[in-house]
Amino acid sequence: MSRQWTNAALPFARLLLVAVALGTLGPRVVGLGAFGLGTLGEEKPNTPEQCPYCRGNPELMAKAQIVSHGGFAFGKLDTHGVDGLLATSDIRWIETPHFEIGFALGSHKVEVEEKTKIRAELTELAAALPEVVPTVKVLDPWLRAHLYALRCEKLWKRMLAILQVSESDFPATPWTEGTQIIGMGQYLGQFGKFELLILPTQSSHSMYLLNQFGLTIKNTQRWNLIQRDTLSVTMHAQQGDLRKDDALHGHVVFNLGINLLDGYRHYSYDTPIWIREGLGHFLEREINPRNNSFDSSEGGIAELTRKWKWEPEVKKLVLKSPPRLAEVLGIKEYAELTLDDHFATWSMVSYLIATNPDGFAKFNRLLHDNVDSNGLPTGVGLLDLHREAFKECFGMSYPEFDAAWTTWVLAGHGGDPRKEEKEGGTPPGVPVGGGGG
Ligand SMILES: [Zn+2]
Repeated sequence: MSRQWTNAALPFARLLLVAVALGTLGPRVVGLGAFGLGTLGEEKPNTPEQCPYCRGNPELMAKAQIVSHGGFAFGKLDTHGVDGLLATSDIRWIETPHFEIGFALGSHKVEVEEKTKIRAELTELAAALPEVVPTVKVLDPWLRAHLYALRCEKLWKRMLAILQVSESDFPATPWTEGTQIIGMGQYLGQFGKFELLILPTQSSHSMYLLNQFGLTIKNTQRWNLIQRDTLSVTMHAQQGDLRKDDALHGHVVFNLGINLLDGYRHYSYDTPIWIREGLGHFLEREINPRNNSFDSSEGGIAELTRKWKWEPEVKKLVLKSPPRLAEVLGIKEYAELTLDDHFATWSMVSYLIATNPDGFAKFNRLLHDNVDSNGLPTGVGLLDLHREAFKECFGMSYPEFDAAWTTWVLAGHGGDPRKEEKEGGTPPGVPVGGGGG
């Protein structure tokens, strides 16, 4: 079975963006030898007891659904090893029921426009952690780590709803690290929890990716950690608007959303790009349509857009030269995605979720259930399965879908969820540097 790793994602925020990406490295990751697990003394600022909110207290942590504040396996190391590797980054570690997160950014001053959202989130946190003050003006790194833990778990619930599955559909099954994977694990199908590492600088990001995966990548990177059967994403805040909390939140959701979909029923082969990218956009734009991430290629860097209202762009596209699903389906690499493709995949996925959520859930299940004559997962013959499953789940051939979707778009559907919001200022665009591989 082929278990490749995916490519990069790229962010960008409020209106603009660009991306990056990467090429195709082989499925096997280069091991980088040994470097010791850092020996950390108690004075380290990220020991669990230092968290002002749960203080590493098992009872409080359990109430807040926090499994751990460090000490778990991460990347090819463990959190102590990553602390040793990135000694200049103060990483707050936090493990939730479904995610392992390293958060290394500093404090964040709550901006006027994000006050309502963040207060609501902090109020949720305060239900289990009384030390959290919802009206606080500056979020310290520990609080931000707890906030991202909350956001990741919310995304988890959102994905369960979209895929129409529940935890009990994925019972815990034993698996030993390093052995061949058979069957499905308890995390939507993966045996390992989903990893997220948010770093402050490109240099720390590059150091981590080179050391752990042998990659020289400057932008956000999703990766399949075969040894631990974990899908990870690594990003840094020196990309676009990612120093802004709202943009970072969207970027996290975009990338983790795609990883969750890839891991659904186990990541054994790649499903078509269009539905993964489209769902990533859909999820990110549910958070705030002003922030948009783009999987793209290094060569695609010229594609900058300040546009965040995508509905009129899709309409224009449909009037000018309507994209056809059969063509979009032919996109084989993230690097091939054009800006119009991003608009189209977002709108097509939005249409399917809005008009036939049951069909969308079933279609994704079928797409992730392709097996060969021995019953083993395979990407072979996936396009045939895609066509048959599409007809079965949506009751439409591709041309019939094109016609129905086009009509839906021209009728004014498919707008952004926060349509009523007034368009704010448009910050200057910042191209994101490319990766490579
Ligand atoms: Zn804590």
